[in-house]
Amino acid sequence: MIAEVSDKVYVMYASKVAEYGTADQIFYNSKHPYTIGLLNSIPKLSAGHKKLATIEGSVPAPTNYPAGCHFCTRCAFAIDKCWNEQPPLIEVERGHVSACWRTAEIDKFKEQLLSSVV
Ligand code: SF4
Repeated sequence: MIAEVSDKVYVMYASKVAEYGTADQIFYNSKHPYTIGLLNSIPKLSAGHKKLATIEGSVPAPTNYPAGCHFCTRCAFAIDKCWNEQPPLIEVERGHVSACWRTAEIDKFKEQLLSSVV
């Protein structure tokens, strides 16, 4: 429904913007590990009776957010820097930004990321 009615989409995680862009950029070219995990958890009729994909872990309490990226406690690609420094919003293409230290590598890791959240 979001893709049908929205021109721009903001993906939020634990009070921070994780990624934003046009609906097409977010749904067809997502660059943030959280967005990719969210999209992967959408039920698919073709999946038959397979268990639904989830993102492991849970959202940290607002009083206990990590010092760095708020998604680092659940991210398969977190590196030391992720725990200590909040990632800036990095433009990945015109009008499309992602708050991830590993944005430049995410396409390389996308397949691995999808299989890790299934
Ligand atoms: S900044 Fe680090 S922890 Fe946050 S989404 Fe990117 S890789 Fe994962």
